[in-house]
Amino acid sequence: MNQRTVYLIDDEKEMLDMLSDVIEVTGLTVQSYSHAGHFFEQVQTFEHDAILVLDLNMPDIDGIEVIRRLSTMSAPPALILMSGHDSGVLHAAEKLGRAQGLEIIAYIGKPINLKKFKKLLTSTVLEASKLAAIESTDSGPNFEELQWAINHEQLVLHYQPQFSLSTNSIIGVEALVRWQHPKLGLLYPERFILLAEQQGLIGDLSHWVVENAIKQRQQWHDEGLDILVSVNISSVDITSSTLLEHLTELLENNQLDPMMLMLEVTESALMDELVSSLEILTRLRLKGVGLSIDDFGTGYSSLSQLHRIPFTELKIDRSFVANINNDEEAKAIVKTCIILGHELNLQVVAEGVETQEQAKVLMSFGCDIAQGHFYSKPVIADEITATYVPSA
Ligand code: C2E
Ligand code: MG
Ligand code: MG
Repeated sequence: MNQRTVYLIDDEKEMLDMLSDVIEVTGLTVQSYSHAGHFFEQVQTFEHDAILVLDLNMPDIDGIEVIRRLSTMSAPPALILMSGHDSGVLHAAEKLGRAQGLEIIAYIGKPINLKKFKKLLTSTVLEASKLAAIESTDSGPNFEELQWAINHEQLVLHYQPQFSLSTNSIIGVEALVRWQHPKLGLLYPERFILLAEQQGLIGDLSHWVVENAIKQRQQWHDEGLDILVSVNISSVDITSSTLLEHLTELLENNQLDPMMLMLEVTESALMDELVSSLEILTRLRLKGVGLSIDDFGTGYSSLSQLHRIPFTELKIDRSFVANINNDEEAKAIVKTCIILGHELNLQVVAEGVETQEQAKVLMSFGCDIAQGHFYSKPVIADEITATYVPSA
C-alpha cells in the first residue's frame, strides 16, 4: 500500500471529514487542518511526494497566502486547489502557484464531486509510482547508444493520420519518431530528444527522420495515396543551416513536391530562438515547404512576433482541445485560435482530438484539420498502407 501523505486544509469541518474519508479509502495517509496557521505551526518539512489539498477561501490565512508561504519552503508538496468561486479564480491561483515554482496537480470547483476527487487522487498516485518504477529500473539511454541507433536503423517512424474536417478523409500524416532500444524496449521521443539536442545528435536525428518520412510519403504516392507528410524539427535545427542543406538534396533526390512536406516547430522552441531562427525559417519557406507552429497556445508568443515568421499552419495544443466540451475558457481559446489562424491565412489543425463531441465542436468552429486518437493513434507505415492505400 502507498503510504503517501495527503495534507488537507479547509475551514469547513464537514468538508474536511468527507475528503478525509475519500483519501483514506484510496489507501493514503491523511492529515487535516481547519486553520492554515495550525498547519504551518505543525508541519515544517514534507515527504518528497506529499500532496496538499487546499481550499482557497478561508477566513484567516487564505489559500493565496498559503501558496506564497509554501513557495518559500525548500521542498513544498504538490497542490490540488479547491474553490467555490468561478473557474477564473482557480485558474489565476493555479498560474500564481506555478509562477512561484509549485507543482499544481489540478484545480477543482466546489461543490466537490467526490467520485472525481477519488479518481484524481488514484491517477496521481499511479502516475508517480510508474515514474518511480521507470527511474529505478532505467539509468536512461546514453550518447553512444543513441548515435548507434541513428546510424543502424534502430529508430522507427510511426505515422498519425490527419483528417480534413470538411471531407472527413485523410489528407496527411505526422511522422513521430520512436527508438526500438535493444534493452529498454520501444522508447518515445520524450526519453531521447532532449539527449539528442544536448549531445549534438539532433542534426543527424532530424536528417534521418526527414529522409525516411519523405521516402515513405513517395512510396505511398506511387501506390496511389497522395498525402502530405509532417515532421517535427527542433530548436537546434532552426538555428543552423545543416537541415536546410540536407533538405535541398532530399527534395531533389526524391523528386518531392515541397508543398507535400510540412515542418513543425513548437511554439516554445520558436520563442527561445526567435531572432536567430528567422533567417533559416524564411529560407526553408522559400524552398516551398510548409511551416507549422506546433503546440500553439503553450509558448507565450506574441502575435506580432509570430507574424514575422512565414508560417502556413497553426496546430492548437491538445491541452485546449481536451477540455473543449467541459471548460468554457478552453472552448473560447480554441475558437479564437481558429479565427486568428484563418485571419493570418494559416491552415488550422487541432491535435489530440479524442471524442466525436470534440470533433463536432471543432467542425462548427470551422477548424480545417483534426488529428488524435478519435481518428487514429500513431501507427506503423504498413498499417497506413493497409488502411488507406486504395488497392491495398
Ligand atoms: P507533437 O508533435 O505535438 O506530437 C503529438 C503527440 O501527441 C504525439 O506524442 C502523439 O502520439 C500524441 N497524441 C496524438 N493524438 C493524441 C490524442 O488524441 N491524445 C493524446 N493524449 N495524445 C495524442 P509522441 O509521439 O510521444 O511525441 C511527443 C512529442 O515529441 C511530439 O509532440 C514532438 O514534439 C516530439 N517529436 C516526435 N517526433 C519527433 C521527431 O522526429 N523530432 C523531434 N525533434 N521531435 C519529435
Ligand atoms: Mg508535432
Ligand atoms: Mg503538438
